[in-house]
Amino acid sequence: MTQNKGKGFTRRTFLKASGAASALLGSAGLGFYGYEAGKDPRTYRGWENWEGVNQDFNRKKYAVDKPTYLKVGETSRPDARSDVIFYRRGLFRRQWRDETGLEGLDPYLQKYYRQNPEHLELDLYSQNELMPKLMADTRKYRKQFLLAAAWSNAMGAVGPPRITEPPEKSDFMLNRRTGQPIEAVQFKDPVKTSKLIKKMAHELGSTLVGIARLNPDWVYSYTSIGRGFKSDEPIEVPKHWQFAIVVGTPMSWDPLYANPTYGTSNDAYSRSRIIGFRLASFIKQLGYGARPHTPGTDYDLMVPPILVDAGIGEQGRPSIVITPELGNNFRPAVITTNLPLVPDKPIDFGVQDFCKHCKICAENCPSGAITFGDPVEERGYLRFKVDTAKCLNFWNSTLGSMGCRLCVAVCPYTRKANWIHKAALKVTADDPTGLTEKGLTFLQKKFYPGPDPQTYYMPSLGGENASYRPPPWWLRSEDFIE
Ligand code: SF4
Ligand code: SF4
Repeated sequence: MTQNKGKGFTRRTFLKASGAASALLGSAGLGFYGYEAGKDPRTYRGWENWEGVNQDFNRKKYAVDKPTYLKVGETSRPDARSDVIFYRRGLFRRQWRDETGLEGLDPYLQKYYRQNPEHLELDLYSQNELMPKLMADTRKYRKQFLLAAAWSNAMGAVGPPRITEPPEKSDFMLNRRTGQPIEAVQFKDPVKTSKLIKKMAHELGSTLVGIARLNPDWVYSYTSIGRGFKSDEPIEVPKHWQFAIVVGTPMSWDPLYANPTYGTSNDAYSRSRIIGFRLASFIKQLGYGARPHTPGTDYDLMVPPILVDAGIGEQGRPSIVITPELGNNFRPAVITTNLPLVPDKPIDFGVQDFCKHCKICAENCPSGAITFGDPVEERGYLRFKVDTAKCLNFWNSTLGSMGCRLCVAVCPYTRKANWIHKAALKVTADDPTGLTEKGLTFLQKKFYPGPDPQTYYMPSLGGENASYRPPPWWLRSEDFIE
């Protein structure tokens, strides 16, 4: 998987490896101080500093010519109606009747379930058994998670404006009199335009920003959520979707560590959604096409490989992208556009190799959705595969605010910006021997052990409503509410 690891050994000197080993020993001895320093609010990096000043990782040093996923066969575009779990579950709920079974579903769903019978079983289990239990337990334990749920709902209270027109219409600012797109301003130089767009993304609230040339393989072949597309007609990739600008913001640290019961994704969803719409608006006013694809589910394309293409990070074992700045603690939005830009290069800072050995997320995942195995081929590309149906069923097996982000909370790359974690990140990226990653994985397991994954389940499923870390003071309902 890793493409520059071989040449890295010759390019990166043995001296660096020795430095890695000694830094590792030092960090082992002083791990306790590092752990304590992580509690300092000044180390909550990401959303507190939009200019990225604290983000001092030299990304250019790790730039590579090709993305870190591998193309191994004939590629095809994903059908969001069946491949995206949220869309599929919605369609399944509307279409499934016990009397008609599979035959009563739309042909693409029938085909999908015939190829993936285990997902029919999981989707049926969710509908018939899990959701009724979730509702009953939610009522029973409501008071314990009242503040967490209210906070999560508050963060998600402002939804995205609805896009209802096809991209050729909705992505442009139209002249009110003629109904035609307004004239595009002429920029002097795409290099300068890219710099401007990145600065603007930070000004609009983004922590991360990168640019990719849009690979059409990542655009859905069909979708079921509208946005100007009909669910029974194939999506033709619009001509003006030439570049993808990606932005991202982190989730709040302390609730993240108190997953799955006290965390939420809504905080970062909401911030990234707003930035996506703001940046699209900025570009449209200059006469170019721009469409925001924003969280939770308002996407016409697959986001993780675009993040890889844009040099934001590498796809890790849970299939989400790990960045040098925030680990995998961030939520992205994408803006597709025809504004002439210069794409960033992908980066390789050692994540693929780290993930091969680490497996901490797979060990801590309560649902078994994350593979312990190697990357496998999907639609022509090699990547770690995650069982999204198992994952979503676990979301509905836990109480609290919304879903699960344990694979984010436990990842060694997702640590606060104290000196020990910053040093460890740099040393890992430069160590060609693999010794550092093994040592750091050991330290991570030693210093950050979590509860037995089965205790995260809600009581009616045999669990204890456990959290990875205790909840932050401001989400402990028992301290505030009678
Ligand atoms: S926990 Fe380990 S295996 Fe999982 S994504 Fe993070 S580094 Fe990779
Ligand atoms: S979100 Fe939770 S259930 Fe889903 S893959 Fe991550 S750890 Fe597993």
